[in-house]
Amino acid sequence: MATKALKILKFGGTSMGSAEAMQQVISIVRKPQRDARVAAVVVSAMSGVTDSLIKIARLAATQDNSYKQLLAELEKRHLRTVHALVRRKRRAEAEKTVKALLGYLKEIVTGIWLVRELSPGALDYIMSYGERLSAHILTHAMRDKGIAVEYLNARTVVKTDANFGEAAVDFTATNRAIKRHFASHRKLQIVTGFIGSTADNKTTTLGRGGSDYTASIFGAALDVQRIEIWTDVSGVYTADPRKVPEARPIAVMSYREAVEMSYFGAKVIHPPTMRPAELKRIPIVIKNTFEPAAPGTIIGPKSERNGAIAKGISSVGGIAMFQVEGVGMLHTKGAAGRIFAALARVRVGVLLITQASSQNSISFAVYERHVERARAAIEEEFAAERARNLIAIGLERDLSIIAVVGEGMHHMPGVAARVFSTLGKNGVNIVAIAQGSSELNISVVVSKADETRALRAIHTSFFFPALKPINIFLVGAGLIGSTLLRQIANQREYLRNAYGFAIKIAGIGNSKGMLFVDEGIDPANWKNAMTRSRSRMSLKKFVEMVTASSLPSKVFVDCTASDEVARTYADLLRHHVSVVTPNKRANSGPYAYYQELAELSKRPGVSFLYETNACAALPIISMIDDLVLSGDRIRRIEGVLSGTMSYIFNAFAKSKSFSESVAEAKKLGFTEPDPRQDLNGMDVARKILILARKSGYPLELKDVKLESLLSPAAARAKSVDEFFKRLQKEDATWERRKRAAEKKGQRLRYIATLEKGKVRVGVRAVALPHPFFELEGSDNIVTIATDRYSAESPLLIQGPGAGGEVTAAGVFADILRVARDAA
Ligand code: ASP
Ligand code: MG
Repeated sequence: MATKALKILKFGGTSMGSAEAMQQVISIVRKPQRDARVAAVVVSAMSGVTDSLIKIARLAATQDNSYKQLLAELEKRHLRTVHALVRRKRRAEAEKTVKALLGYLKEIVTGIWLVRELSPGALDYIMSYGERLSAHILTHAMRDKGIAVEYLNARTVVKTDANFGEAAVDFTATNRAIKRHFASHRKLQIVTGFIGSTADNKTTTLGRGGSDYTASIFGAALDVQRIEIWTDVSGVYTADPRKVPEARPIAVMSYREAVEMSYFGAKVIHPPTMRPAELKRIPIVIKNTFEPAAPGTIIGPKSERNGAIAKGISSVGGIAMFQVEGVGMLHTKGAAGRIFAALARVRVGVLLITQASSQNSISFAVYERHVERARAAIEEEFAAERARNLIAIGLERDLSIIAVVGEGMHHMPGVAARVFSTLGKNGVNIVAIAQGSSELNISVVVSKADETRALRAIHTSFFFPALKPINIFLVGAGLIGSTLLRQIANQREYLRNAYGFAIKIAGIGNSKGMLFVDEGIDPANWKNAMTRSRSRMSLKKFVEMVTASSLPSKVFVDCTASDEVARTYADLLRHHVSVVTPNKRANSGPYAYYQELAELSKRPGVSFLYETNACAALPIISMIDDLVLSGDRIRRIEGVLSGTMSYIFNAFAKSKSFSESVAEAKKLGFTEPDPRQDLNGMDVARKILILARKSGYPLELKDVKLESLLSPAAARAKSVDEFFKRLQKEDATWERRKRAAEKKGQRLRYIATLEKGKVRVGVRAVALPHPFFELEGSDNIVTIATDRYSAESPLLIQGPGAGGEVTAAGVFADILRVARDAA
C-alpha cells in the first residue's frame, strides 16, 4: 500500500523552544528519509507558552493587570524567533501572521478582563494560540528555506466533544476529515498539536501534553508506517536518569510496558496518546531532537527481552496509604468492592491495593492530593461499622510507589523476592507490596525519604545483577587512609572487570576538610580534588551526609584512631551504613558498646568489619569468628601482638641495651612519635581484649592484667629526650632480667594471653620449642588453642602485623567483603 510509506514526526515544547531548537527541527525534517515520506509534522507550543497562556487568562479574569507583562514577553519571544529564522525577504509576511495572531489574543484577553469570567471554552481557545503561533513560525521558517510546506490548523480536522480542557475525540468524523484533507494536500503539513474543535466549531484541547495524542490520531488515520515523537531525552529510560545516573535508554518496549511505566512516573509519553497507534499496531519511536543519532526507544506491539527480567523501574512520590482494618472486616461482605465504589464516586483513583490474607485489613494507595476526598468517602461508606468500633481507618503519608515493569516478569519466579531482598539489604522498609494482575508490574510502597535509594538499589539489582557496588566514605587520610586510596586506585579496574566490584570513593574527610562527590572522587587524584573543592571538616556533618546519601551499599571507613569517630558507628549502622576500620577504640571501649555494634551489624546488608584491629591484615579476627561460628570453643590465645614490642625485644636480645633498642625502633619508625605510647602496653591490651571478646568473654579493659614497661619516673618525663635519659637508668635492671632468662635458654617477649577467661599482658621468658622463641624482626605471632586444636598443636598465625601497606590491605579486603555481602 502506498500510504504505508508515510510517517509522522512530532516535536515537543523544548524542541520548539527557541530559534536554535527550531533550526534543529528543520534539519531533522529535511534529512532525506529512506524508509518513509514525512506526511505531517505535529508541533507543540514553544516550551512554557501553554502555562503562561493559562496564567494570562486567569490574571485577566481577576482584573490583575500583570497579565500585560506576560503577554508582552510572549510577543517578544515569538517575534524574536521569527527574526532569527526567517530572512528579510519573507520576514514581513511571517511577522504579519504572528502579530495578527497576538492581536486577536490580546482582544480576547481584554474581553476576559472586562467580563471577569473565564469559561473552560474560552480558556481552551486562549490555549490554542500556543500551538498556532509555533506552527505558523515553523511553516514560515521552512518555506524560507525552500521547503514546500503548508500550515494545518488541527481544529479543522480533529473533531471532539465539548468537554473543554480534556475533550474526547470523535474518531469517525476525525479520521474522515484527516483522510480527506491529505488526499487533496500533498505538501508536507505543519500541524498544530493539542487542539481540536466541536461539531459547532468551538475550539477544544485534548488535555495537557496532548500534542503526542494529535500525532497518534493523525498517524492512525493515515495508517502511517511509524510515528516519531521528538523530545529532549533519548528515549524511555530504565529509570529516571535524574535519580538513577546509570539508567539507560530502553531499545524496544511494548505499548503495555510503556503505559505501565508512565503510570508510575516516567514522563516521556502520555499514555492515552498511544491508544490510536496501538490499535493500528503502528510503532511509536521516541527520539531526541538534540541528539538525533541516538537510537531512541521503539514502542510497538511486541516487547523485546534485553537480558534483564525487568524493562524499567519507575517511581512516583506524593503517595498516601489508607488502611481499613478491624474485626468488622471479617464480616463485611465485599469490603474491597465498597472501597472502590466509594472512591469512584468522588473520582479518586486507586493506585494500588493490598489485602491481608487474614481478610481483616485492606490497604490502598492514592495521591496525597486526594487524601481528604478519599478519607471523607471511606468514612461515610463505613459509617455504620465505625460507629460500632468494628472498623478503624488509618493513614500513612509521605510515601512513594516504586514499580518494576516488564513483560518478561510474567511466569518468572523470584522477582518479588529479589525486590524484597534488595530493599532489605539497603535498609529500606517496605510499607506495602502489590503485583499487578497482568504480572506486568510489581509495585512496592516505601517512604518518600527512601525513594531514590530504593530506586537505585532495585535498578542495579535488575540491570546490573553481576555488579557489586560499593560506595566508600573515608575519614582520616593519614598513612593508612592514603595508602588505602592508592591501593584502590591500582586495583579498581581489575576488580571491576574480573569480579564486578564497582568501587567508588563517595566522600573523604580529613583534618583539612571534607568532600562528597556522588559520581566518585578519583582515588588517584584525591588530594587535588580536596584542594579544589571541599568544606570544613565536621564529623557530625560528615555522618549526616553519609546517612542521607542515596547511594547503595555504603561503607564508612574510619582510618583515624579517634574515640569520637568510633562513637558514630552505632548511628551509621542503624542507618544501614556498613563500617570498616582499623581503629580499635570502639571494640576496646565499654563492653556494652561493643555488644551494641555487634547486634546492629547482624542485620542483613550491614557489616561491621575490623580485621585490622589486631595484627593488621593477618586473619586473626576472622579466624576466631569462623571457629566460634562453627561451634568450636576458644581455650587459649597467646600472641605477640605488637610489631613495636616484637622489634624492641629482638634488638634487645642481640646484645643492645634496652634503651638503645627502643631508640633504634623509634629511629626506624616502628614506634609512635612518643615511644611511651607503645611501652605502656595499652595498645596490646586493647588488642587482646578485642580477641577475648570475639572469643566470647565479656571483659572490660580494666580486667586486663597489664604489665607496663614504663616506670613511673619514665612516664612522668616532660619530654621524649628526658624520657630516654630516665630509661637509660633502668638499663641495668633490664640487663639482669635478660641474663637470668638466657641462663635458662629463654628469650624475653612481650606477650598477651587469654586463658580460662582471664587476660594478661606482660614480659615473659620463653624457651624452645615455644614458637615465640624464634620470632624475627617486627613480626607478630598468635597461637589459638581450642576444643579442636589442642594446646600441644594450636593454630599458629605469624607474619608482619603492622605498617601502612599491610594494614591498608586488610582494610581493603574488609571493604570487598562488605561489597560481596551487600550484593
Ligand atoms: N502545549 C500543550 C501543553 O503544554 C500540549 C503539548 O505540549 O503536548 O500541554
Ligand atoms: Mg588482623
